[in-house]
Amino acid sequence: MPADAQRPNVVVVGGGIAGLAAAHALVTSRADIAVTVLEGNADVGGKLRLGAIAGQPVDLGAEAMLNRRPEGTALARAVGLEAAIVHPRATSAGVWTRGSVRPLPPTVMGIPADVSAPALGSLLSPAGRARAQLDRWLPSRGVEDDVGVGRLVARRLGRQVRDRLVDPMLGGVYAGRSDEISLQAALPQVAAHLRAGSGLLAAASRVLARSDESPGQDPLPVFAGIDGGVGRLPAAVAGDAVRRGAVVRCSTMVRGLERTPSGWRLVVGPAARPEEVSADAVIVATPALAAARLLRSAAPHAAHELGGIEYASVAVVTLAMRAADVSVELPGSGFLVPAVDGRAIKAATYSSRKWGWLQDDLVVIRCSIGRHRDEAALQHSDAELVQAAVADLGDAVGLRAPLLDANVTRWGGGLPQYAVGHLDRVRRIRESVAAVPGLDVCGAAFAGVGIPAVIATGTQAAARVLEQLREPRQWRHE
Ligand SMILES: Cc1cc2nc3c(=O)[nH]c(=O)nc-3n(C[C@H](O)[C@H](O)[C@H](O)COP(=O)(O)OP(=O)(O)OC[C@H]3O[C@@H](n4cnc5c(N)ncnc54)[C@H](O)[C@@H]3O)c2cc1C
Repeated sequence: MPADAQRPNVVVVGGGIAGLAAAHALVTSRADIAVTVLEGNADVGGKLRLGAIAGQPVDLGAEAMLNRRPEGTALARAVGLEAAIVHPRATSAGVWTRGSVRPLPPTVMGIPADVSAPALGSLLSPAGRARAQLDRWLPSRGVEDDVGVGRLVARRLGRQVRDRLVDPMLGGVYAGRSDEISLQAALPQVAAHLRAGSGLLAAASRVLARSDESPGQDPLPVFAGIDGGVGRLPAAVAGDAVRRGAVVRCSTMVRGLERTPSGWRLVVGPAARPEEVSADAVIVATPALAAARLLRSAAPHAAHELGGIEYASVAVVTLAMRAADVSVELPGSGFLVPAVDGRAIKAATYSSRKWGWLQDDLVVIRCSIGRHRDEAALQHSDAELVQAAVADLGDAVGLRAPLLDANVTRWGGGLPQYAVGHLDRVRRIRESVAAVPGLDVCGAAFAGVGIPAVIATGTQAAARVLEQLREPRQWRHE
């Protein structure tokens, strides 16, 4: 596939939502370019994947998008899914600890604004609450350097707040360990208030107050989904991009990427039948380790830094029961489980309460298992993971209904870990990549693991590449 001398050819490696967003931004720009997406799997979507349970559509990977950032719903609208955008019917999660599921009061990623809130009375012991109040008297030295969220919380608010609130929240979003996750990357607004001299409770209070500000209107729902599953989004984006002239090739693993005097040469397909694809510009939209391998010769510093980003593996266990067989109340949208409680599951989502498209005569519950560096939790057969999830649901909420159907989806290397210093690492990666004409990177490894943040990295990469294409001398590698 030679690059057309007149019409620049951009290849996007990876058809997850980042790569698809990049490709969509390229084909909807007015630039006269050819756009090709090369995806290793048989289908596009990456961590957005639709499946079925008891004959009903369910998400086997990501299942909701933050609605208070515009990028997820904007992309859904742009590809014709506007009418399908829905919001969860239930949003309030609890925490399963100290023998029962207890409601979670408003927090910023588990950091409470008000430790005297009644709901915290059941999550923390009186001593734990008193310890958290100490934050008000601790010196508010600015946090200039990055720090692990959990370490900071334990120091200022005590271990109970870290273990029973912050760790389960970060475990839910990153499948990570709170002590290791970067404050600057995961909680930039809190970090900014701390730098300005605020205590941690006051910082959380200010961030919560801001997120509730909505002059004269109802606050936006926090989350959005797509009727039938957010896993519908990738196929819709790919379909729209193809209608606008993009080529999307699945089952096309990219195994090599090299600069040539006129641009790029990609080696794709099975080792036995390699194929060469040439391009004027390349956007690498794969997880960090795959990107590290591809960039080894073109951007060795970026490759080295990308190779240092660790990932957590998780499994999603989806269970379906007949509603008629379920005799217990399942309040809210589900619950999180602190790692210190030593349970198999780290979270449970009551999908059938949350999403209106699921049939009323079914109860569908999605449990997730696995945290960063706890691969042992996943070294079990699918049947054992189902059994462990069922046992935990029995202990947590007394659910003991017969299963109608079950699905286990394993996500090896599912979620990048934003370790302390992540923002500096990303800056170094970006500097190294920016020094190479016609090259860009995007995806969950950079600026947020949530769908809208990931989409933003894709559209920003597309914008940078388009900018370079307007300056032919740069991208022609002269
Ligand atoms: C279990 C789970 C639940 C989640 N839940 C949510 C949620 O509810 N809400 C939310 O906002 N976020 C959620 N996330 C996070 C979010 O889904 C991901 O961060 C996001 O989808 C990542 O998109 P991406 O395009 O960066 O990467 P990926 O989805 O990983 O896509 C990368 C693509 O690159 C392809 N690829 C890799 N190497 C090559 C190669 N050499 N050649 C060609 N193709 C290649 C892969 O096959 C893949 O399709 C969840 C993640 C997981 C794992």
